[in-house]
Amino acid sequence: MTEFQSALLDWYWVNRRVMPWRKDNHADPYAVWVSEAMLQQTTVAAVVPYFERWMERFPVVEALAEASSDEVMRYWQGLGYYSRARNLLAGAKLVVEHGWPDSVERWRALPGVGEYTAGAVASIAQSLPAALVDGNVERVYSRLAMDGSVGADLKKAAWKWARQNLAVDHPGDWNQALMELGSTVCLPRNPLCGRCPVPDYCKAAQADRVGEFPSPKPKMQWIELNHVTVVPVFDGKIGLIQVEDGAWWSGLWHPPRGDAVEALAILLGDPGVRVGAFNHVVTRHKISLEVRRLDLDLVVGGLRFVPFGELEEWPISAPGRKAIEMILNQGQVLPGLG
Ligand code: SF4
Repeated sequence: MTEFQSALLDWYWVNRRVMPWRKDNHADPYAVWVSEAMLQQTTVAAVVPYFERWMERFPVVEALAEASSDEVMRYWQGLGYYSRARNLLAGAKLVVEHGWPDSVERWRALPGVGEYTAGAVASIAQSLPAALVDGNVERVYSRLAMDGSVGADLKKAAWKWARQNLAVDHPGDWNQALMELGSTVCLPRNPLCGRCPVPDYCKAAQADRVGEFPSPKPKMQWIELNHVTVVPVFDGKIGLIQVEDGAWWSGLWHPPRGDAVEALAILLGDPGVRVGAFNHVVTRHKISLEVRRLDLDLVVGGLRFVPFGELEEWPISAPGRKAIEMILNQGQVLPGLG
């Protein structure tokens, strides 16, 4: 082991935070896999309650594999990026059928498992010599190496560095040490270099140029969209449709939007009454969503009518739920949501 590796690992073994998915230092591939899926795009603090609730309901991979898609979505609701939940469910079925993957390549063969997640689960839960790079590692690397590249170039260089510097005797702890350094010391703004265990190996710190790394990313190019959603109301119920595969929020439910809005307007000769609008951001898209209420006096085919009181339990997309709340807050319908 190099002195750099020893310095970082010694610091990690003293300073590591106890996470629910590494209780008693026991690394269970299922728990690590679920936690890594949940941690993408969000913080540890936000994930912990979701993780605990999930593990209570689906404590082992077999329990998840047997669950319905709707129930899994409900337990994921609020974490966003629902394809991760669908992939976990599909992956759990494969694991139950074929057993746990025993290499990075086999982990990567599971749906939704990319290079990072495969490296994390293989190294942390199975002690396989697999490197990983997440946003924290990328930032730490850019400062240690004083690498001013951005985007895909930075990612590629960070992966190369991570593979070359992997502490093969302790791959899981090493990877977690790098991520922990990034999330608690080598912070995006104002890194705490005075508390860093490896300042002697950091080119940016040595050159007193920490603030310049990583280089700023080019500005996001936003795509602006205007959408309409119609919330059908019939006899104390809201009409929902399930989002098709391949669309945003696929697998979840929401009030009709897009083509379904036009189909309803043609079918009923009524475009609904505008009650308001709100903005919603998805990846690079800024969506202005107009919300209309459509009071029905008959059930329309193709829609699932859910009683107001059961909406909270239903796996509804975030903008769909917001649109429904907007309708319910008009004061014309029963409370039960919002
Ligand atoms: S010395 Fe500062 S910039 Fe360098 S790795 Fe440590 S915390 Fe990050």
